[in-house]
Amino acid sequence: MTGSDNVIFRNGRLPNGERSDIVVSQGRFASFGHASPDLLTTASIVDLDDQLVLPGFVEGHIHLDTSFYGDTWRPHVPNTAGFDVRERVEIQHRNMAAAAPMEKRARDQLELCLTNGATRMRSHVMVDASVGLASLQTIAAVRERYRDLIDIQLVAFPQSGILTCPGTVELLDAAFDHGADVIGGLDPASLERDVKGHLDIVFGIAQKRGVGVDIHLHEPNMMGVFSIEEIAARTRALGMQGKVAISHAYGLGDIPPDEARRVADVLAEAGVAIMTNAPGARPFPPVLTLRAAGVTVFSGSDNIRDSWWPYGDGDMLGRAMMLGYRSGFYTDDLLEVAFDVVTEAGAKALGITEYGLRPGAPADFVTLRAAHVPEAVVAVPKPRSVYRRGRCIVRDGVLLKWPA
Ligand SMILES: [Zn+2]
Repeated sequence: MTGSDNVIFRNGRLPNGERSDIVVSQGRFASFGHASPDLLTTASIVDLDDQLVLPGFVEGHIHLDTSFYGDTWRPHVPNTAGFDVRERVEIQHRNMAAAAPMEKRARDQLELCLTNGATRMRSHVMVDASVGLASLQTIAAVRERYRDLIDIQLVAFPQSGILTCPGTVELLDAAFDHGADVIGGLDPASLERDVKGHLDIVFGIAQKRGVGVDIHLHEPNMMGVFSIEEIAARTRALGMQGKVAISHAYGLGDIPPDEARRVADVLAEAGVAIMTNAPGARPFPPVLTLRAAGVTVFSGSDNIRDSWWPYGDGDMLGRAMMLGYRSGFYTDDLLEVAFDVVTEAGAKALGITEYGLRPGAPADFVTLRAAHVPEAVVAVPKPRSVYRRGRCIVRDGVLLKWPA
């Protein structure tokens, strides 16, 4: 797809509520403000009818392989004795064995995200000795099919552990010959009981393959802080600032504010980003403390109707609302922080340099009815239309047919 040549989007509102023409040339933003009279006579015109124009949302953490969205409803099966990753993975394996084909489930979930306005995504995909590379190959094929609609990074995710799941090291390495972009990890202390051993492998593959790192860390309290500091130390030692993320980092939500500020400085110095989805019933990382220190905080839906929880709707604007709600964000400035987490900060965490409503960036944007960003975060308006490289791909919440 090449994108439309010289399209002027008229009567839209920029995120701050100002009226603006938006000129798109060759699929990229060319200018904002008043379009020149010359251009108005030669370009195609699209009337946005006073809608708010927002950058395409960044879905920074999702699992395309394990959702049951669009499939039969799967009642949630609780852990037998409190949260236990190992037991939850066993429940997941049982559910997956009875599920609709992965390709169908992944497409259903992806189209849900697209109609809600995501134009960039990072999906973790299970790669371990229990499933081999099969899930990754399926999801990489789905990514290829949707490549004109959304950019997707795939994380090789050792859901069953690395050291505790023999054969996984070789599979994680091979994943980078089968479409993986980022190396994942999982609870090096609580699940693997060997922080050094786990991180040696994860960072070893990252160095060998020249890729970034995104580690699931459910570890609570000071156990989580210990792993966080080990990850930060390696990131600095290897010069990988800006290429490493920790997802969930629950421990940061459990510790006193002074300690959180100290760890925030460690993370900022190491250039390690933190992903939080503002989980429903659990303390989570303090967004403002982290941002004040200079840490990039991004977000994602994480699990959508899967074996971990029944929630999730693939809506990153709704996720910004949840994050703001749980963080006590009331002022316009703070509602804009929540929005930044699902847009600009997400792009930064994913290493996306060409992003946002700025000249030269790909013209990927969402239109909806709100006066400005703070109102959009609170109201979470639908339906939305979504434009990719200046071309409408979702109109009023309906995904349009595209050549595939
Ligand atoms: Zn996850």
